Amino acid sequence: MNMNFFMPTKVIYGKGAVLKNREILRSLGEHFLVITGKSSMKNGSLDDVLEALEGKYVRIYDTTPENPPIELIPEICSEFTDTTDIDVVIGLGGGSPMDTAKAVAVLLDNPQLNVRDLYDATKYTSAKKIVCIPTTAGTGSEVTQFSVLTVDGRKMGFSNNKCTFPTIAFVDYSYTITMGRELTISTALDALSHAMEGYISLNATPLTDVLAMEAMKNIKEFLPRLLDDPESEYYRERIMFASMLAGMVIAQTSTTVAHALGYNLTTDKGIKHGLATAIFLPFELRNANTEKAETVKALFDGSLYRFYEDIGIKLNIDISDDDIEKWVKIVSTASHIRSTPGNYDIDTLTEAFKEVRDMFCSE
Ligand code: ZN
Repeated sequence: MNMNFFMPTKVIYGKGAVLKNREILRSLGEHFLVITGKSSMKNGSLDDVLEALEGKYVRIYDTTPENPPIELIPEICSEFTDTTDIDVVIGLGGGSPMDTAKAVAVLLDNPQLNVRDLYDATKYTSAKKIVCIPTTAGTGSEVTQFSVLTVDGRKMGFSNNKCTFPTIAFVDYSYTITMGRELTISTALDALSHAMEGYISLNATPLTDVLAMEAMKNIKEFLPRLLDDPESEYYRERIMFASMLAGMVIAQTSTTVAHALGYNLTTDKGIKHGLATAIFLPFELRNANTEKAETVKALFDGSLYRFYEDIGIKLNIDISDDDIEKWVKIVSTASHIRSTPGNYDIDTLTEAFKEVRDMFCSE
């Protein structure tokens, strides 16, 4: 057996992780920049971070939008560099604040870069220290090197194994208890996509398979129960755990074609990332036509579509043939296809979009 596994992030996991381990956070530096959104005020996570950093110099950027555009990164950098030199950038929230924090950490440490150089990993090797604290359960960004930004209307990920993994991830499921049903579903489906895509990926290893299988089993078993009992700490914890495992998977395998397909529904139709991606998984599994894809189908009792029906997935959007033609062109050049089992020519990609339209957009 030959394989590599690289995940240099220290994971501090459990209820109360930030406050119980405040000295570890404080030891990273004197000047902290917290990148977050509005929900961190409601779920208690921002209070915890501020309490943990009492006496340190702390600046807060709290208006991170969903699907952050690349132009935002230099704006944040210039807003926060004139007062002091930041040592640590904390991404606090869902994927958007964490991915923004990674990009800001690189640009602050490499002021000579043009923001688009983030996508050329040969141009930089360092970043400010990155700390990620997820408050949703799905993105897994706290344990990956990836940052996905919107560039010219397309979602595009960059990464650099030398410097974009977080130094520390504080993973506390209790921040996810206040999430509403829709966000709970869409983020959990992102984790499911990471696990499933990573499992069938041509880049999968025996080690990522163990993590991916455990993540899938947890989501299959506990997401429906969580939706019936959204305040259950036990179910919240199971989904957070699955999300982190699935993040560790894609840190090795990257995502596959369902992510490339789903990005279009997010940028052009406003469908949340995890939901937009997961609806392509049944097609991806069938088109893979591998033993591992069959194993996944069996885990979901033969039909992932039935699982989606049980948790009540539907899209209230129209998809036109012109939309499909445009998206197929975009996906046909995506790097994700190389690691996806099965053929993905123009006809197959068109078929994937049509199947999703038939299955989820009908009256
Ligand atoms: Zn994702």
